[in-house]
Amino acid sequence: MGGAPKAVRFSGRGVFVRSFYGVFGLKPYGTPTQPDPAAAVRLAQGQAQRKKRYNMRYHFDFVVVGSGIAGLSLGLKLAERGSVCIITKANEDESNTKYAQGGVAVVSRMEADSFAQHIADTEEAGDGACMPEAVKVVVTEGPDAVREIIDWGARFDKTPDGEWDLAREGGHSAHRVLHHKDMTGFEIERALLSQVYQSPNITLWSHKFAIDLITQHHLGVEVNKRSQEVDCYGVYVLDTASGAVDTILGRITILATGGAGQVYASTTNPLIATGDGVAMAYRAKARVENMEFIQFHPTALYNPGEFPSFLISEAVRGYGGVLKNRRGEEFMHRYDKRKSLAPRDIVARAIDSEMKRLGDEHVWLDCRSIDVDFMRSHFPNIYQKCLSIGIDMQHAMVPVVPAQHYMVGGIKVDLWGRSSIRHLYACGECSSTGLHGANRLASNSLLEALVFANRIARDIGDDFRAIPFCEAAPDWDDAGTAAPPELVLISQNRREVQAIMSGYVGIVRTNVRLDRALERLLLIYRETELMYKTTTLSVPLLELRNLLSVAYTIVKSAKLREESRGLHFNTDFPGKAVEYEPTVI
Ligand SMILES: Cc1cc2nc3c(=O)[nH]c(=O)nc-3n(C[C@H](O)[C@H](O)[C@H](O)COP(=O)(O)OP(=O)(O)OC[C@H]3O[C@@H](n4cnc5c(N)ncnc54)[C@H](O)[C@@H]3O)c2cc1C
Repeated sequence: MGGAPKAVRFSGRGVFVRSFYGVFGLKPYGTPTQPDPAAAVRLAQGQAQRKKRYNMRYHFDFVVVGSGIAGLSLGLKLAERGSVCIITKANEDESNTKYAQGGVAVVSRMEADSFAQHIADTEEAGDGACMPEAVKVVVTEGPDAVREIIDWGARFDKTPDGEWDLAREGGHSAHRVLHHKDMTGFEIERALLSQVYQSPNITLWSHKFAIDLITQHHLGVEVNKRSQEVDCYGVYVLDTASGAVDTILGRITILATGGAGQVYASTTNPLIATGDGVAMAYRAKARVENMEFIQFHPTALYNPGEFPSFLISEAVRGYGGVLKNRRGEEFMHRYDKRKSLAPRDIVARAIDSEMKRLGDEHVWLDCRSIDVDFMRSHFPNIYQKCLSIGIDMQHAMVPVVPAQHYMVGGIKVDLWGRSSIRHLYACGECSSTGLHGANRLASNSLLEALVFANRIARDIGDDFRAIPFCEAAPDWDDAGTAAPPELVLISQNRREVQAIMSGYVGIVRTNVRLDRALERLLLIYRETELMYKTTTLSVPLLELRNLLSVAYTIVKSAKLREESRGLHFNTDFPGKAVEYEPTVI
């Protein structure tokens, strides 16, 4: 089974192209990426010229897409049961997880904290939109899930007397955030990968890009949103080195592809965060929910020209960092009684409003009251980063600005991580479990990924062996396509999507802006459609296609929500509806 190549057969890519990518109710579309367009052109053209290896066919019990906290922790659990293939589109450790600074929010000291408090804080941040069962599950099952990664080797800081050194972040009523200095995600990723390397049942493939989920659609059966039973049989995957497209068949497929920060011009997310999982699931007709709730982190470092943006963790405010405007005045008390430690949506909107009021491009974070030795030991990464651009946090304030940070919505899943497609689960940031409601509480996302990885593994149980491989799934066919003449068409379109989303679908929205965004996106969709149909596949092209799908789901959902709640603020609907309804598309 695991990994053995089977017969190779070519069928038509045109099959998908014609009916699969009708995001805008139109036909397929193509797309771009890559910071250096010239390098991307050389890569794509080189792929086409190189002697291409044959497309391969593989069989695994479990196909996991993504090697962040969700994919790796779930892969480790599933490896106890069967063969696991974890595929990831870049280096093995490249993920949002790797950049997580603040930590993991979990109740660990019952004398000073409680499940009830963590639940209340999560629900308050979620602004009436959290699913109570999901909140309860994550908070109460969190301690066991975290203990497990500690057993796997993840190290969290302790105080000199051996207690957990718990941080406090915005929206939390207690100190409850476990952390490893200000590099918690890096440490978690390191620990999980070292376990994965030791597991004989896991095949970890890097630089493989999941293109699309395989469903009945590829067998010639019409699949649409009303289809009662869509099945997932695995994924088509582009080998980014050779350009071959492999068919990876799985009894169970799990999307753990992370967020979509790259849809915005300013984000803390790395380049891989292009919302591929949501886009794939959406095209495969899975339910996608609450995409309008995009979290903007209030304090990304203002450093023009740097992309993605460097994050100044909320924990810095937890330890005394205070927001100030150009005049050196504190302003958060005018917006919320919790001041600089109010939930992120409130702080981000307050900064946005203060910047607009004074015509400024950023505000300031004043950390000068924090002991410098404490700063160096708790936030070495942040301290060094600021120094590297000439800011000594001991003596100078740090310029900060909100930047896209987290995708709250995603592939709709139930309490066991099941999507609306059979044999397809989603875990981590690409999923929508109901935990975050309309706004994620700081440091709840790493916890959510761990708890849901556990739940998915439990739900899969041992019955998966009865699920047959779909041998009838055709192999990929790229007949009739050619290397793109110039990828600048793709990279320019990517930049335009980002500009449209930041300009019209940012922290504050209006009906006119949303309509305009949709019209502009449609133009780009039409332009790129032709390229997808006619050119050889490349990562820039596939990412652009996914960014467009995700941008569309965000705008569509934002248009559906005729109220302001949590992270979605529309000045044409400033009030909050009495009853909360999710937006499911
Ligand atoms: C700067 C920063 C700081 C943060 N700090 C915190 C924090 O302190 N606490 C907290 O709880 N959360 C934090 N977050 C959020 C948190 O890091 C993420 O929500 C979480 O790590 C997501 O984990 P994941 O496994 O779902 O996705 P990721 O860690 O993003 O992993 C996704 C994986 O999928 C792969 N992938 C994507 N598309 C494809 C494809 N088409 N084919 C193959 N592979 C693909 C990627 O390469 C990657 O390996 C932070 C995020 C950022 C960006």
